[in-house]
Formats: sequence, C-alpha cells, structure tokens
Amino acid sequence: AYEIASCLVGFGDVYKRQVFFYENKEVLRILQALRGTQDILPDNIYKWNHVESVIKELCALYGYSEIRTPMFEDTKLFLRGIGDTTDVVAKEMYTFEDRGGRSITLRPENTAAVVRSYLEHKLYGDQQVHKLFYIGSMFRYDRPQAGRYREFHQFGVEVLGASSPAADAEVINLAYTLFKTLGLKELELHINSIGDYKCRPIYRQKLIEFFEEKEDQLCDDCQARLHKNPLRILDCKEDSCRRASAGAPKITDYLCDECEKKFEAVKRYLAALEIPYLVDSRLVRGLDYYTNTAFEIQYPPLGAQSAICGGGRYDGLVEDVGGPSTPGIGFAVGLERLLLALEMQKLIPEPANRKKVYIVTLGEDAVVEGIKIQQHLRDKGVIAEIDLQDRSIKGQMKQAGKNNAEYTVIIGANEMEKKEAAVKNMENGKQQDIPFLKVSDFITGSSRQ
Ligand code: AMP
Repeated sequence: AYEIASCLVGFGDVYKRQVFFYENKEVLRILQALRGTQDILPDNIYKWNHVESVIKELCALYGYSEIRTPMFEDTKLFLRGIGDTTDVVAKEMYTFEDRGGRSITLRPENTAAVVRSYLEHKLYGDQQVHKLFYIGSMFRYDRPQAGRYREFHQFGVEVLGASSPAADAEVINLAYTLFKTLGLKELELHINSIGDYKCRPIYRQKLIEFFEEKEDQLCDDCQARLHKNPLRILDCKEDSCRRASAGAPKITDYLCDECEKKFEAVKRYLAALEIPYLVDSRLVRGLDYYTNTAFEIQYPPLGAQSAICGGGRYDGLVEDVGGPSTPGIGFAVGLERLLLALEMQKLIPEPANRKKVYIVTLGEDAVVEGIKIQQHLRDKGVIAEIDLQDRSIKGQMKQAGKNNAEYTVIIGANEMEKKEAAVKNMENGKQQDIPFLKVSDFITGSSRQ
C-alpha cells in the first residue's frame, strides 16, 4: 500500500492534501469514494450485467441501436438542451473550467448530448427515423439518499424523426416491457399531454393567473419561476406548493384539437398493447421544446424515490439547439433504482455456476505443466485458476476449497516424475492420476459423470 501511495504522491499538487507521514515516509490516507458515488464491486457486477443484457436484447428486438457519447460536454449544450430554469441546470450541474478556460459540464442527462451528436454527424440527412439507446453514468449535485446519487446510471432511448403517436406508444411500450421482462409487477404508468406551442401558451397564462393569487404560499424557487416557467410549479415536491396547486387548471382541458387527437391516439395504442395507464395532470415538463406526451413509470414499493423511468416528446429541442425541425421522443431509466426494485423482489438470478478447477503446483517445473493444463481448460470454457502467490501445497489446497473448485489438479514431485497429475473430485473426494495431456479432456468429458 505504501508503494502505491508514494507513486500517487508523485502526481503532484492534487494529492498533497491527502498525504501524511508514517515513520518519516510520505503516505496517502485511505481515500473514500466521494459522497453520492459508489463502487460496483465484483460480487455485485452480475446484477448490472443481467440488467444490461436484458436491455440490449430488448433494444435489438425493438430495432434500437446503441450510441455512446462523451461524459462531458460544453456547458452551453445543457443550458439550452435542458433549460436554465430547471433544478438540474440551476442547482445540480457539475460545471468547471478546464485547463484551457472552457466551461465544461459532466452530463446530468443524455438527451441533449444525443441530439448534439445526431446534428454533428448529420444523421438527419437520410430522412430516416433514428432509434437510439444508451447506457451510462450521469452526474447531478443533489442531496444523496437511498435511490438518489451524485453519480448514477441511466438507460435511455431517443427516437428522432418520428412524429407519429405510434412512436410515443412504442417508446412507452419498450420501457414497460423491460420492467415486465425483468419480473417487476405493481408498475404504475402515469401519462399526460402538455400540448404544443399553439395551445400551451393559453394554458400557461391560466396557470400564472391561478398561482398569482397564491404566490405567498409558494416556495422561493416557485415564486421565482412563476412567470418564467409556471408549469414546473405543478411538479414541485414542496408540501406548500403541492397544497397550493390543488385545484389548478388542467392542461388536458386546454389542448387544441390536434394535440387532443394525438393524446387520444397514444392512449388507444397503449390500450391495444394492454398497458394500463393513469392520466396524471401534474406530470409536466416545463420547457417550450417539450410537446405532447409526458410520462413516468413508478414502482411504488421504492417509497420516496419511486420513479424508475421518466420521458416525453420534445419536438422543439433539435431546432432549439440549432438543427432542422425534427420531432423527438425518449425516456431515461434510473438503473440504481431499477436494481433496488429488483433486489427487493429477489428478481436477479445468481450467475450460472460454471465448472471450476484449481491447479495446485510445487515448484517452477510444475507451474510450467500447470499453466499448460490451465490454458487447455480455459480453451474449453472451464474456469481454471492457479496459485499466483507461491503458496505451500497446503495453502493452495485451502484456496481450492475457498474457490469452490469442483476439481483440484495437483502437480507435485511424484506427478512430475510420472508426467501425470493427481486429479481430485472435490465433491466425492475421489482422486485419479491422469497424464498431463489428458487432464482437460478428463475434466470436460467427466462433466456428466
Ligand atoms: P430524469 O432524467 O430526471 O427524467 O430522470 C430519469 C430517471 O433517472 C428517474 O426516473 C430516476 O430513476 C433516475 N434518476 C434521476 N436522478 C437520479 C439520481 N440523482 N440518482 C439516481 N437516479 C436518478
């Protein structure tokens, strides 16, 4: 540990504060992961791999291709692409100046970045619908609690170039089917329509008039956004704002004919797919480029952080960040929350148990034979481990037990002489001498004994 410490110290100023002295030697304090971040340790990674493989399989089935974009972008992209009156932009972004004096932001979500990439590479040029998905880390400076982190992971999709309500239904269907495939029940799909640039301004004005009368009951943030972004007041989590918004006008009462028709179509398609939904008039996205469908999928047993997926249509976003008018719709699923839900219901299968072998050797010549046998076994898909710590035979046998090896292959002095390994079946204790060259066949062939 001390060696690692001194080599990190070598990197310079960054580590100076964490350095202390031990017997006149500079060493690092044991550092901890920053608040709101977490390590995913080897014991847990199978859970992530399980969820990610189901996601990838489903996306392939639905015709979605993976896109990977950088973890940080020009801050301006998020100011435009999320909106500077949202909490995410106003309070939660990890923004810093890089060494070249540029303002950089760690992505707090990925829609804006995917749209940036779509435009930069002129994917719109082929007039096709682009169905994209991503999985990756997002960063928000929020108060950490169960289900809420500063670095978290999202699986999301973005469909660009599709204006039909059939796209809205497909996207909702994909999220819903993912959760069902993973085994979750008790899902609640909330949907709403927030109109478009024609009908929303009328509703917006009604909402401002409604809240102006109750301004003193609103939290400071909502008072500040009353005229800039009144729709956001509807999804403010403060109790006082929730009380104040009881009886507020509903957007669905103000939709123009076209928006009404689109909303009806989405509902009809969801009914055809037998996906139950609740129309929730509090569900809004506060910015002008969001249009029509907004939705959220909740898993109520998670309690306060029960939203596992949020999404909606953003027909004005591509234009807003400088591209040609292009309809878009997408969602993002919080993977930590999804995993919490799956763990709660014990829905994550243990990794499949593959045959394991441990090779015990005595001396360098035995290691030469041991690593050859190890390679033969690995070539046949058998997990084979060999001692890497020059331990005694007894220590290695103990390790074989810890590894839950089904077979132990022992190569000591006698075995070297006979060019045969002692192969021990750890379950029944039976031991047989097998020529070195035949060990891998013996073990793989005996799998059904
Ligand atoms: P949003 O991008 O805010 O619409 O969030 C989409 C989904 O990401 C939410 O439904 C949550 O499941 C998840 N999510 C958002 N913020 C966090 C966070 N700070 N920690 C963990 N998950 C989050």
